[in-house]
Amino acid sequence: MEAVRTELFDLTIVGGGPVGMFGATLASLHGMKVKIIESLPELGGQLYALYPEKPVYDVAGFPAVPAKDLALSLVAQMERYRPEVVLKESVETVEALADGTFLLHSNKGVHGTRAILLAVGIGSFLPRRIPAQGAESWEGKGLHYFVPPLDTFAGQHVLVVGGGDTAVDWALAVAGKARQVTVVHRRNEFRAQEDSVRQMHETDNINVVTPAEVEEILGADEVSGVRIRHQEKGSHELSVDAIIGGLGFHPDLGPVKTWGLELKGSTIKVAPESMMTTRPGIWAVGDAAFYPGKVKLIATGFGEVGIAVAQIRTFLHPGVSGLPHSTTLKNKNR
Ligand SMILES: Cc1cc2nc3c(=O)[nH]c(=O)nc-3n(C[C@H](O)[C@H](O)[C@H](O)COP(=O)(O)OP(=O)(O)OC[C@H]3O[C@@H](n4cnc5c(N)ncnc54)[C@H](O)[C@@H]3O)c2cc1C
Repeated sequence: MEAVRTELFDLTIVGGGPVGMFGATLASLHGMKVKIIESLPELGGQLYALYPEKPVYDVAGFPAVPAKDLALSLVAQMERYRPEVVLKESVETVEALADGTFLLHSNKGVHGTRAILLAVGIGSFLPRRIPAQGAESWEGKGLHYFVPPLDTFAGQHVLVVGGGDTAVDWALAVAGKARQVTVVHRRNEFRAQEDSVRQMHETDNINVVTPAEVEEILGADEVSGVRIRHQEKGSHELSVDAIIGGLGFHPDLGPVKTWGLELKGSTIKVAPESMMTTRPGIWAVGDAAFYPGKVKLIATGFGEVGIAVAQIRTFLHPGVSGLPHSTTLKNKNR
């Protein structure tokens, strides 16, 4: 039976990625009673789950910071204000009550809240699987979609599949540890950042094979090779120790899709001046939020949180507006 939690929070943030965590910090700093609910066992969203060891270069104030360290800094910043953190719970439905508050129903319980901030990012991390026949049976046996610590690849020959940022970034990151990296992409042109593509072509131990596709994964118990079909030269076998599927992830809002919010593909439409969705009392930020000109970056998500939290503060306390500077607040040194 569902455990009912009736304690009423001012704000419940759904999603414990970087943007949700910064939302919890800001809302708590400004005096709100905050709960953050994350479906994974760890906070950190894409930073922690998808690219923990990659350095991030475009977060203000950090010249270069490994994604995992950025996630841990966001956790530490948030914990200072002690919001309630709920892990391993997926929010599924929302129920609007007659008194204007909401009940959020998760797979494990019910959470009462006055306002909701959706920071659900790209939803659950569902990888785009490589189209080679039977590829699914090699997951966990040398075929990776969630990249393990880079040391795993020390001295190995690693095959990276894909032609977008995910594949090119992984090829560059893994090349620092691996003996050899081969990148296979079905087109000659890469859809990744120009500078990264240039670096990939200039890196001695990265070999680029295009236009080509992985036809079959070979091995006994673990991956030991692949058959590659080159569009002009035909098929050949290549010995590899590991394969990284770098085709990205399917964005999927999951159950939030059924909440009656106006959507744009797999994102939620918001008014950029407030970050409010088409349902009063529900805001959205970060990768999940859409408005014209939207850029999916951690930095933009942090800015959106500032706008949303100011609006939520006014929603909770009509008559107050904006956000005072943190330097002037009483509870900043908790
Ligand atoms: C390989 C890679 C490299 C990147 N490099 C950069 C970079 O250099 N700079 C940059 O700015 N950005 C980069 N990004 C993008 C950046 O990671 C995202 O913009 C950022 O993570 C968005 O944060 P978010 O908090 O909105 O969403 P997410 O990080 O996606 O977090 C959302 C969280 O919500 C949780 N969730 C979803 N649905 C529910 C639910 N129903 N109930 C409970 N929890 C739920 C998810 O489990 C997840 O933890 C990169 C992304 C990738 C994949």
